[in-house]
Amino acid sequence: MTHVVIIGAGGGGLAAAAQLARAGLDVTVLEAHIYAGGSAGTFFHQGYRFDAGATLAGGFAPGAPLDWIGKQFEIDWQVKLAERAMQVHLPDGVQVTRWTDVERWQEERQAAFGHAVEDFWLWQESTADLLWDFALRSPNWPPQNWKDLAGLSRVSLGWLLNSHGARGSSFVPGMLKDAITPLSSRLPHNPHLRQFVDGQLLIAAQATSESANALYSSAALDLSRQGVGHIEGGMGALADKLVEAVRRYGGEVRFRQEVDAVKRMANGLYEVATRQGKNYRADQVIFNLPPANIVELLGEGTPKGFQKKQTIPADGWGAFMVYAGVDEDFLPDDTALHHQVLVEEPFAEGNSVFLSLGPSWDQKRAPSGKRALTISTHTNLDEWWHLFEYDRRAYEQLKSEYTQRLLSAAEAALPGIGKAAELVLPGTPVTFQRFTRRQRGWVGGFPQTHLLRAWGPRISKDLWMVGDSIFPGQSFPAVALGGVRVANSLLAELNRSVVFRESPLEQASI
Ligand SMILES: Cc1cc2nc3c(=O)[nH]c(=O)nc-3n(C[C@H](O)[C@H](O)[C@H](O)COP(=O)(O)OP(=O)(O)OC[C@H]3O[C@@H](n4cnc5c(N)ncnc54)[C@H](O)[C@@H]3O)c2cc1C
Repeated sequence: MTHVVIIGAGGGGLAAAAQLARAGLDVTVLEAHIYAGGSAGTFFHQGYRFDAGATLAGGFAPGAPLDWIGKQFEIDWQVKLAERAMQVHLPDGVQVTRWTDVERWQEERQAAFGHAVEDFWLWQESTADLLWDFALRSPNWPPQNWKDLAGLSRVSLGWLLNSHGARGSSFVPGMLKDAITPLSSRLPHNPHLRQFVDGQLLIAAQATSESANALYSSAALDLSRQGVGHIEGGMGALADKLVEAVRRYGGEVRFRQEVDAVKRMANGLYEVATRQGKNYRADQVIFNLPPANIVELLGEGTPKGFQKKQTIPADGWGAFMVYAGVDEDFLPDDTALHHQVLVEEPFAEGNSVFLSLGPSWDQKRAPSGKRALTISTHTNLDEWWHLFEYDRRAYEQLKSEYTQRLLSAAEAALPGIGKAAELVLPGTPVTFQRFTRRQRGWVGGFPQTHLLRAWGPRISKDLWMVGDSIFPGQSFPAVALGGVRVANSLLAELNRSVVFRESPLEQASI
């Protein structure tokens, strides 16, 4: 029996665990915290359940990642599908609603940006369909050895011919070009469209149209078409359902187990040690962590090729958060649950503010008559850490300035919200590091500037990485899909058959 230890119960680690446990491997997930989900977890504070980072649950449309994963693991997400994915507020006050219904969204975008840019949206939708389809079928990306490359070529060829016929080959040159050129080269000249696209890319690709590659951008702009919904109990309920699935398939998930070292023993097995004094033996270890954390745990045993991955990319982001408990009376009945407020350009570092309210029907999220609100913005990591380490007063000062800045930006979407807030909790990258253990609070994975920039999941023959540092990158559905892909690669390496349910993947031999 192969023993697999997975470090971290984020979306990536749990999805990998469910797939491996379902295939009959002996799986143990070790999670430092008392709940699952990591950046997509939900924490309890003074009667509220606040989404810690991720707030928008997407990917429930038929065939979309969470729909597919739900079918694989017999999970009923019990999602209430939303009509509005979010309301976007442009700097000059123009509002654009991202409807989940395809025709309604088409009418909305034509009213907001004109008919002349319709070709751009048609390109975006058809390219996103191809990319998601490919992500479901293809093995590891980027290929890390000849076997990956051979598998990729075989699946790609089969995919092109089976799914798209001879016409498929005509997509390839355009897709390859889009993988390495920024979206700006495809964007028609239209200031509102560009602002809207830049805002959306910042939250879904961690880069704007000047640098985000066009191929990834097509999928990043596809969020609302992928089916957005709300889950009782908040985002963390998604991870909880994956925990249930892992346990149902015979795997274990242990909380309050913070791993502090992973060592290869003389017999070739790994010993995974936790701060709580427990040791776990493993044939294979999967890290649901960013590379810098992995290097720290492996220490001198870090494979040489992986050592250089210990730095956080210079363009990587942190998040500044405000968690607020608000009085429901201040909110009009038809208030959208998600808003993006674009204050002014450049949007990054505090000028793109994302707000999410717990639904009024969700009694688990807040005391009666109140609602849980999470507000977030992109921020650079260095200044927070510098002040935290050298000038604690200035750190606290900056924290209160950012809190006010976010609350005042939120007024554009929810007028009166400043007065309605009865409880306000700020969070900086330092807070993020404390609660998710992600080094320096780096979140969102690598900005999607170049498709080949993604790290491969294979660290060595028996060490693997899942989560938002690998393809297909950040977001709960993306990391969960990535986790299943990595589990499939591991199963293939162990010559175990991969079981799929109701899926186009039945045809793909991985
Ligand atoms: C502010 C913000 C807003 C976001 N908004 C959205 C959104 O609206 N929708 C969306 O889909 N995505 C969103 N995302 C992205 C999404 O949250 C992440 O891409 C995703 O959750 C990352 O998952 P992961 O698998 O990489 O694991 P992580 O979330 O990084 O979880 C890793 C887990 O490992 C545990 N761990 C760490 N070190 C150890 C150790 N030594 N021992 C044991 N356990 C350990 C941590 O406690 C954690 O539970 C957002 C992210 C942020 C930060």
